[in-house]
Amino acid sequence: MLRAVKVLIDGAAGDLTFSYRIPDAMTVTTGQRVVVMLRNRKTVATVTAVEELDPRSLKYELKPIESVVAEDSFLSVGLLELARWIARFYITSVETVVRTMLPKPSQGEAEKRKTAKAVRLVPGIGPEQWGELGARVAKQKALCEFLGEHSSVLMSELTGEHGFSSSSVKALVERGWVETFDQIVGRDPLENIEYVESLPLALNPEQAGVLAQVQRAGETLRRGEPGRPILLHGVTGSGKTEVYLQAIQQVVDAGKGAIVLVPEIALTPQTADRFKQRFAKIKDEVAILHSNLSEGERHDEWRKVLDGRARIVIGARSAIFSPVANLGLIVVDEEHEGSYKQDTVPRYQARDIAVVRGAIEGCPVLLGSATPSLESWQNVLAGKYELATMRLRVDDRKLPLIRVIDMKLESRKQGAGLTIFSSRLREGIEKRLVAGEQVILLLNRRGFARNILCTDCGYVATCQHCSTTMTLHKGEDKLVCHICGFSHLPPRRCPECRSQSIANAGIGTERVEEMMRQVFPAARIARVDTDTMRKKGQLRETLTAFRAKKLDILLGTQMIAKGLDFPNVTLVGVLNADVGLHVPDFRAGERTFQLLTQVAGRAGRGELEGEVIVQTYTPHHPSIQFSRHHDFEGFAEQEMAMRRQFGHPPFIHLILITVRSKHQQRAELSLRTLHGRLKAALPQGISLTEPLPSPLEKSHDQWRFQIILKSAKARSLAGFVREGLIGLNFPDDVILTVDVDPYNLS
Ligand code: ADP
Ligand code: ZN
Ligand code: ZN
Repeated sequence: MLRAVKVLIDGAAGDLTFSYRIPDAMTVTTGQRVVVMLRNRKTVATVTAVEELDPRSLKYELKPIESVVAEDSFLSVGLLELARWIARFYITSVETVVRTMLPKPSQGEAEKRKTAKAVRLVPGIGPEQWGELGARVAKQKALCEFLGEHSSVLMSELTGEHGFSSSSVKALVERGWVETFDQIVGRDPLENIEYVESLPLALNPEQAGVLAQVQRAGETLRRGEPGRPILLHGVTGSGKTEVYLQAIQQVVDAGKGAIVLVPEIALTPQTADRFKQRFAKIKDEVAILHSNLSEGERHDEWRKVLDGRARIVIGARSAIFSPVANLGLIVVDEEHEGSYKQDTVPRYQARDIAVVRGAIEGCPVLLGSATPSLESWQNVLAGKYELATMRLRVDDRKLPLIRVIDMKLESRKQGAGLTIFSSRLREGIEKRLVAGEQVILLLNRRGFARNILCTDCGYVATCQHCSTTMTLHKGEDKLVCHICGFSHLPPRRCPECRSQSIANAGIGTERVEEMMRQVFPAARIARVDTDTMRKKGQLRETLTAFRAKKLDILLGTQMIAKGLDFPNVTLVGVLNADVGLHVPDFRAGERTFQLLTQVAGRAGRGELEGEVIVQTYTPHHPSIQFSRHHDFEGFAEQEMAMRRQFGHPPFIHLILITVRSKHQQRAELSLRTLHGRLKAALPQGISLTEPLPSPLEKSHDQWRFQIILKSAKARSLAGFVREGLIGLNFPDDVILTVDVDPYNLS
């Protein structure tokens, strides 16, 4: 018999599978990465199966595997299965997903690892050799004794902190007693930080109930029964993180591992520290994967997990692919966050992938949020997910009082120009500054001000067919609905109140900061947005300073809305709650509700009571009113009724197909071809829009057109689109993207 493997070739269009022979001296396992020859070129591939073949059954002789990328397997059987699931569901190739699962330095022909020169004794050398050394070479003798106590020591450490000289090393190398070699070294970005251990808190009854629920889910799965993911709906400050920490502790005590997903922007140093502190005793077993890591650092963390040196992984989206063996729990914090959706290929939704991975690995999945996504909420209502609820804040702290300020009245009061601070907010800030308390100000920057707003009555044009905001197309001077294509001329006067103050209300954080410095010259202000936080470590510094009360006001974008826990913050201001409502997206209301509830949750987390001031032109909008009353269930009920009525998710699934090209006509024609093809084969239960320009019609000099498919059945919808794409040939300059369950319809 012949030992052979089936491999999946990297980078081939579609998935190409071939068989190769395993050379005699080589051992190979499933999931290992290997180098093979394909059409006289070396290429990397993934082993998907190891098999014994009868040489007589082969029509041609198998080529051997050239080499292995590393001695060990990068992808467990579970991860390979997950990759296949993702490829099928998100209409992409398995090999693309496999590469997404691996850090860059391990994707090539040989795993790139950082090495440093190290020194060790040659085997067999001991005191019987160096005992003879005289006083003249005492330093060499001391070095030998030192090396005798260690298996190896880095050269830099020998000559640095241990004070040996490189000439002593050289002399011993010449004697043949000592050798130098390249040792693989890991980088730990947090290695110089001391963590004070934080002890588990005594859980309140609600927390204890949820912990027990997670435990029960684990037991059910261990009995081999199918389990259901748990959705934890816990108000802000109800102590969800403490529940995660204790659930992980149990998993770790049982010898298993855990993955915790946090949204990218919530993966603040503060979040990371909470985990490192709780597991301070085993802090090296906690891998933190945030976006500021270099490729090398990320790879080192991944290696730690693969080698089993780290068992707890905290990370954003892609951490769901961490090679944790023996998974005991997956937590997805702030499960409603849009950043779990990846917007490049493969366009997966990490929260949904967490659920699939949990099912494959037989481990409980805990999704937590103060404002669950309607997708997850619908899964609870349908009985697919189990619900866990925490209605109270820890220590009976009150949820903050939320005041909604009607900016239409403020504009009238304050006169011409865009009003940034209402008098109430200004007074509120002044009061906090005097009292030595702290303020967080949120500037909502979602969406590009391409809709028109009446500053007199708050009117914004929405599509009568979809209830989403219409987008202004300046070139054609038209308002267009990007869901259904309905369009009309932009009004010159407000259709509601006949006012001519129809404007774009776009302001930036920088400008607000300037104005704040004028209005509050004595205040210590820091601005947190992607521009100011570019420098590595900057965010940690700013947040530490804020916590230490060296700053009075933190002004920022969405970045500051999540997960931060500052007990001295008693006022949270939202400068422009509307902005997010007016994007051409059926999730606009949901996102605004979430943002307001989350940011309000930053107030009053300590002994002091909190207040929230929300400025808006549309004070009666349900997203604003329900968040004002901390009423998630009420919001969900009315929003779901609307989604059902207009046929939006979560009741149906969408697939967005976009075609782009520098040549407008070629893009449009290509999409029309595909559209015609899909339409001709359209089965019952699937609907299809006409081809339309994308809301972002032109970007990077490329024209963009789109179609949207809808169906209640996700899998058959994906299957239909996959079939429709087979054999489709577009001109080279036309790029097609397929987005299943899209988050961004532009
Ligand atoms: P959430 O994640 O739900 O917003 P956190 O887990 O951040 O809430 O908890 C809010 C605050 O309450 C934190 O400062 C946390 O240390 C504290 N806390 C959580 N659970 C308890 C508890 N059982 N007893 C006392 N304090 C707690
Ligand atoms: Zn008006
Ligand atoms: Zn419409």
